[in-house]
Amino acid sequence: MAIRLYDTLTRSIKPLVPRDPDLPYRMYCCGPTVYAPAHIGNFRTFLIQDILRRALETDGLSVRHARNITDVEDKTIRESQIEGIALSEFTARWKKKFHDDCAALNILPPHDEPSAVAHIPLQIAMIEKLIARRHAYTTPDGSVYFDISSYPAYGKLSHLDISQLRTQTAAPAATPTDVDEYERENLADFALWKSRKSADGPNYWQSPWGEGRPGWHIECTAMSTHYLGETFDLHGGGEDLCFPHHENEIAQAECSCSQKGFAAHWFHSRHLMVDGKKMSKSLNNFHTLDTLLQHGAPAMAIRYALICGHYRSRLNFTLKSLEDAQTALARLERATARLLSLCGLTETDFAPPNVSEKNTAWGIFQGAWDALTDDLNVPAALGKIYAALPVSTAPDRSLNQARSDLSGLGKILYTLGITLFSAKNTDTPPAQIPPDIAALAEQRWHAKQTRDFAAADLLRRQLSSLGWKIVDNKENYALEKL
Ligand code: AMP
Ligand code: ZN
Repeated sequence: MAIRLYDTLTRSIKPLVPRDPDLPYRMYCCGPTVYAPAHIGNFRTFLIQDILRRALETDGLSVRHARNITDVEDKTIRESQIEGIALSEFTARWKKKFHDDCAALNILPPHDEPSAVAHIPLQIAMIEKLIARRHAYTTPDGSVYFDISSYPAYGKLSHLDISQLRTQTAAPAATPTDVDEYERENLADFALWKSRKSADGPNYWQSPWGEGRPGWHIECTAMSTHYLGETFDLHGGGEDLCFPHHENEIAQAECSCSQKGFAAHWFHSRHLMVDGKKMSKSLNNFHTLDTLLQHGAPAMAIRYALICGHYRSRLNFTLKSLEDAQTALARLERATARLLSLCGLTETDFAPPNVSEKNTAWGIFQGAWDALTDDLNVPAALGKIYAALPVSTAPDRSLNQARSDLSGLGKILYTLGITLFSAKNTDTPPAQIPPDIAALAEQRWHAKQTRDFAAADLLRRQLSSLGWKIVDNKENYALEKL
């Protein structure tokens, strides 16, 4: 039976089957904006997408997974200018950091990873089509906006009713916005092309409308349809992307492509929270992988803590959840070691299964797999694993049973991306912090706590000139090598 998953567009649980039986299952996930290390909220979303992909593959489907790199937008430009380095050099650093963090968290790399900067002509071509079809208009400064009143279905993904706006005026529905992220209350025509501003520095491209750069929304539509086809199977991201980003993407695709339908399934995961608020850089309430590794949590425990809630519920992050995750992993390791020894094997024999071999035997882990196929219910799957483990190591288990238990366990852990016995080897070690740097950082933290902000600022700059950056959060700080 196919995996079933909630679809935001139809608000129903639908089976995941390739819309074209001759093609792989094609999924596009919105990727990171590369201007700083991704935080673990971002990774919650990338991890659940990783589990979806693994589940599809374990189920025997061939998958084509595309995920973009957002490397040209307000934040990447601003931060690269502050550092005084070229945008390409700046984003290459954060792209590498993102890849390293993904590897540490055992997130499979996508098959395609296009970046916005590398696909400017593709985006210009899509904007030209939108203008030719009268879905977009230019403004005197050389920008281009999408006219949301020209697309009657606008709002269908986030279930907005814009009929009132449409009947009020034949002109653009509301004051156009060139801000990429905005709330439903600020519903407006959105920028497809932004004319060159002095703040952009050297980051502008030639276009039929003059010098400038693409808006954020167009990159994903242009690149997803280029790599996966005008219609494909699934499009995903965190809940904040539903409006306006994905709404705008549907409008752009439906109004520029010859085939209608764009993504067949819309997959959104709820946020990772801290004290009731979304974990985000702007609220400064975030942890990165490095800050948690410096707290001593292995990367696999971080993965476990981030996946163990259902993706359709918000998950509150606490440091205690990392301790719980380590306890859970130790329990899994003990039970697996017993099972291995029943089969006459050792820890080093516990290799990931070959998922391309279609082997449907789940044995006593069938319940765990069923939970995953039922709307990717990771917490229920984990519960079923823990329920099955005592059975697998019962004294009356035959050798054949033990072997099939081990194979089922290997497959379900692979699907969840949980590796055992290797935590110490696979962890990315935190950068070694020289004692004089650590002492300066302590002094700065103390200055901040005692509200001596001038001293704190001076120490931060001193650390920066020595090649270290301080990342603060509410209760603590971490040091990152620049
Ligand atoms: P960004 O790098 O901001 O473009 O975000 C990358 C991905 O992380 C997107 O799919 C976002 O929706 C997602 N995201 C951002 N914040 C959170 C959060 N607190 N919890 C879960 N996902 C998030
Ligand atoms: Zn996107």
